[in-house]
Amino acid sequence: MLSLDAASKTYGTTTALQPTTLVFAPGTTSVLIGPSGCGKSTLLRLLIGLIQPTSGTVRFDGQPLSAGNLRSIRHRIGYVIQEGGLFPHLTAHENAALVPKHLGWSAAQVGARIEALAEQIHLPMDRLQHYPQQLSGGQRQRVGLMRALMLDPDVLLLDEPLGALDPMIRADLQAELRTLFADLQKTVVLVTHDMAEAAFFGETIHLLRAGRIEQSGAFTDLMEAPATPFVTAFIQAQRRWAV
Ligand code: ADP
Ligand code: MG
Repeated sequence: MLSLDAASKTYGTTTALQPTTLVFAPGTTSVLIGPSGCGKSTLLRLLIGLIQPTSGTVRFDGQPLSAGNLRSIRHRIGYVIQEGGLFPHLTAHENAALVPKHLGWSAAQVGARIEALAEQIHLPMDRLQHYPQQLSGGQRQRVGLMRALMLDPDVLLLDEPLGALDPMIRADLQAELRTLFADLQKTVVLVTHDMAEAAFFGETIHLLRAGRIEQSGAFTDLMEAPATPFVTAFIQAQRRWAV
């Protein structure tokens, strides 16, 4: 569905991502994890074509991303960032309606889709007329998710979607999202810096370090057969916080 073929990204003298080859198979959930600055967001931005690789190729459904197909491919990818990335001057409804309206959907079509999604993602309908700053963090995140799902994309890319939420709300949303991903059968790539969250979501976890993939596998693979001392250190550093 999505792949990187020796794709890299450098900014001046900073290598954000070393040449990386990865395949995200249809219908799977993959997690990108690693310390701050290791290249997680860069990898996600390459996948959606927000930035171009310095070398190598990014493919969607086998086609290399190019200026010519970027727009149509973007419509098949939902992208969610921390806090939902909503426009502050638009209501929740207007945020969700923006792209479909631009594509020529009627108000009735947009309204019906928003209503169906609000139910699916458990956002009370009366929240839709509110502006982002009038919503709780969890509600903003639900609206961000709704906006990403409007066009029923094949792929969902989520960059630390739950990072700004308090622990209880976060646990609730984690559980809901996992159910939603399973129901929707979409190809999901989720970024987190929290190993417990990675283990909860990821069939496959890609642990990055300084712009390269240190190890890929299930959580149990990383635990029981760490590829390098860094993998063990990363897991242990996080477990120290767990009681
Ligand atoms: P992560 O999401 O894992 O925290 P990023 O992918 O955002 O990491 O960044 C990886 C590295 O690339 C960091 O060193 C970061 O400072 C650098 N970087 C990311 N985007 C830019 C940019 N637009 N210009 C310069 N450096 C960047
Ligand atoms: Mg990031």
